[in-house]
Amino acid sequence: MLQRIASIFTLLIFFSPTAFSQECLYTPIHQNITNNLLALPKNGNILRIPVVIHIVLPEELQHNVSDQDVHNQIKALNRDFRKKNYNWNLIEERYHELVADTKIEFVLSCKDDTGQEASGIVRKITSLQNIGIQNALYFTNEGGSDAWPTNHYLNIWVCDMPKEILGFATDPQESEILKDGIVINHSYFNINRATPRYDMGRTLVHEVGHYLGLNHPWGNMQDECIEDDGLDDTPLQSGPHYDCTDDHLMCSEDEVFYGNFMDYSPDCCLAMFTKQQAMLMRSNLINLRSGLLENEMECQPVVTEAFDINIYPNPSFGHCTISWEEKNIKNISVYNNQGQQLNQIELFTPNEQVELCLDQYPKGVLVLSFIDESGNVYSKQLIHL
Ligand SMILES: [Zn+2]
Repeated sequence: MLQRIASIFTLLIFFSPTAFSQECLYTPIHQNITNNLLALPKNGNILRIPVVIHIVLPEELQHNVSDQDVHNQIKALNRDFRKKNYNWNLIEERYHELVADTKIEFVLSCKDDTGQEASGIVRKITSLQNIGIQNALYFTNEGGSDAWPTNHYLNIWVCDMPKEILGFATDPQESEILKDGIVINHSYFNINRATPRYDMGRTLVHEVGHYLGLNHPWGNMQDECIEDDGLDDTPLQSGPHYDCTDDHLMCSEDEVFYGNFMDYSPDCCLAMFTKQQAMLMRSNLINLRSGLLENEMECQPVVTEAFDINIYPNPSFGHCTISWEEKNIKNISVYNNQGQQLNQIELFTPNEQVELCLDQYPKGVLVLSFIDESGNVYSKQLIHL
């Protein structure tokens, strides 16, 4: 039995003009869990997690998190969990053999829990300030967004919170079923150039590590060298690194350890999960979050290449023109802000322009999804006034 960690892992950063400190809140662990992992197979199949992203923001902030941002963030998760990040070989050479391909992947859900086609992105305009630290976040009728069944989907709420909170995640062994998942400050989601320390999508990589049961390498006690994350291949360290290298944290000269995704260094210096971290996450996924793996979906791959689609006017009262160049778009799907598909328009002959009548669609945010002849997917947001 793996040890019980905490119900909520919170990553906080307190900024000040000259310095900052950072901490996560959770209960201590004392048990070494490495032995529990030895029985697990060294190699395994790829485990795929369906994700739904709830963007719960005031109207003026909705544009800060585009569908393309969501796609890029999913791509960043897959990059780091599959060891496709370019920077892992920049960490100390003696740790190279520990760098893991977790064989865990993430896919934006293309079906909701009723089997309906969906975009995997739910948009909710809220008027509540700092909803990320309020209970209302998890409930549509209170101004938030209801979770999709948390045993079958990784729910991620992107929302407004005080700047000092990056995000938090629930533990796989203990969580409230309606709130299970990850909450992330929109300022640290994806590649946000306004926050250069956190501009590579790795705040969410860190939080998914917690969601799958990982602790920080220094355990729960900073400035001590008596507790760690229970894994043998993450050397003991006395606290988080805030820089890329920071020797004063090592507990012995043999144990300098930088660049772990569960540390606090700037995104550009984070580079690896260890093999035992990967095994623990896979074990927790198979044993404690198995419902995610049962929810198999054949979804379109996420595409991030830039492609210009123009919608005019936008916002629109009742009619608009959609145009593009150089792509053969085969169909256009229209989704509501709950991620439910409202319509699909097939284009049987090559077009570079379509007129859309909005009368049949609800007011508010609509998401248009375009699929080209190669199966690539592009999204664009439209406001129906
Ligand atoms: Zn953390």
